Amino acid sequence: MRRNRRVDSGPEARVRSILHSRGRRFRKHAPIRTDERLIRPDIVFTRARVAVFVDGCFWHRCPVHGNEPRLNTAYWGPKLERNVARDRAVDAALAGAGWTVIRAWEHEQPETVADRVERALSARAAQAAVARALAAPRRASSAEI
Ligand SMILES: [Zn+2]
Repeated sequence: MRRNRRVDSGPEARVRSILHSRGRRFRKHAPIRTDERLIRPDIVFTRARVAVFVDGCFWHRCPVHGNEPRLNTAYWGPKLERNVARDRAVDAALAGAGWTVIRAWEHEQPETVADRVERALSARAAQAAVARALAAPRRASSAEI
């Protein structure tokens, strides 16, 4: 039987459940189509355009735990390099499409990651409020009449 590779990973699921318990609503692995590629972040806030990835330390080469693999380096070295290069290309594609990208490591405290996500959501909400204010037709104040 083939295993589903997209099952909830521990840290990712914990971040999601914390955000959910704080009343945040999001989509899991929702596809985002940019000009360059189709991207499925771990947590997607569609309206706010915030995309969150909880990256595995080994697969994405965390600076703390992403040591060089000791076995079969000829295989793993280039493979992991490609992962990291793809991560950066994904970040660039999302940023180019107007998304805020948050990358967290699986070793980070889920609460800390959730805090970071909420700060990004607040920043996006503030930006949106400014954009709405600028787009709204100016009302003449009584002083101007
Ligand atoms: Zn790590």
